[in-house]
Amino acid sequence: MDAKRVSEALLRWYDGEARALPWRAPPGAPPPDPYRVWLSEVMLQQTTVAAVKPYFNRFTERWPTVEALAGADSAEVMAAWAGLGYYARARNLHACAKAVVADHGGRFPETEDELRALPGIGAYIGAAVAAIAFGEAATVVDANVERVISRLHAIETPLPKARAEIRRLAEPLTPDERAGDFAQAMMDLGATVCTVRDPGCPQCPLQAMCAATASDEPARFPLKAPRKTKPTRRGTAFWLEHERTVLLVRRPARGMLGGMRALPSGPWADRSPDLADAPADIDWKAFGTVSHVFTHFALELDVVAGRALTDAGVEGEWWPVDAIGDAGLPTLFAKAAALALAQRENDE
Ligand code: SF4
Repeated sequence: MDAKRVSEALLRWYDGEARALPWRAPPGAPPPDPYRVWLSEVMLQQTTVAAVKPYFNRFTERWPTVEALAGADSAEVMAAWAGLGYYARARNLHACAKAVVADHGGRFPETEDELRALPGIGAYIGAAVAAIAFGEAATVVDANVERVISRLHAIETPLPKARAEIRRLAEPLTPDERAGDFAQAMMDLGATVCTVRDPGCPQCPLQAMCAATASDEPARFPLKAPRKTKPTRRGTAFWLEHERTVLLVRRPARGMLGGMRALPSGPWADRSPDLADAPADIDWKAFGTVSHVFTHFALELDVVAGRALTDAGVEGEWWPVDAIGDAGLPTLFAKAAALALAQRENDE
């Protein structure tokens, strides 16, 4: 494949078709603020552009610089992240901001290797920040790029096994000039033209060089190994009220949803849930079940509710029921709270 031809065709297309995103500089313009590039790339892991935009805007209004984020209260950072999922990323985000301030004087290091030494920055984010913010000819491979490369070469090896081959084929395509625009052009092509189910080959600047479109079945690529089914775990969440407040706890720093505010809940296991871990010895009423899918398992969480006669003797904070939306609950517990509120209204 003629790498120069690919990069030139793609950059020409990007000059006219680049998506305008709040963390981006227009094609050919000086690079954007590294803080904004890094923040957007951390948020975009496993999440869509549409979901990230409001979070990005809120974070940059509240913490406009890496110094401001480094100085923030970690509970506030976790609460502002609530709903984006994958909460270890929020913890690493804050740790990374602190490391940039403490070890680099508040300036992000400029090379992929130095960036990767920071908390939470792996191969993808390191390459993306180095290319987009600093113009390093780093090869950025996300799911969009994987799809485009596997189609350009009609790779028959299924993912994830094909990853090494895809990276080997992507590296020579990265140009020395405009590496950041090239990385973003590949992402945009995958997101808007070479889409998962319906690749728009007639609109694609790479059509003349693409093996998959020549096969007439471009959407067959990338091939994927069959998914393993996820195990299901069970648990119980406790909605304990006292005088229009509800008991919330902070989850342990290590483990699922670590450091996040939550309803009290027992361990999540593969057995039927019970009341052994209830925060109070009262009569509990079953309110129903909410489901949530994590990366490695699905969870069925029974929601039970009760009223405490006193607010003394339990660990946690009593949060106003009417302001539960401001508690920064992660999605699982926001679902449980919504169920409890709906049931409670039915009961009243
Ligand atoms: Fe994707 Fe079609 Fe372009 Fe090939 S020609 S890269 S399959 S959109």
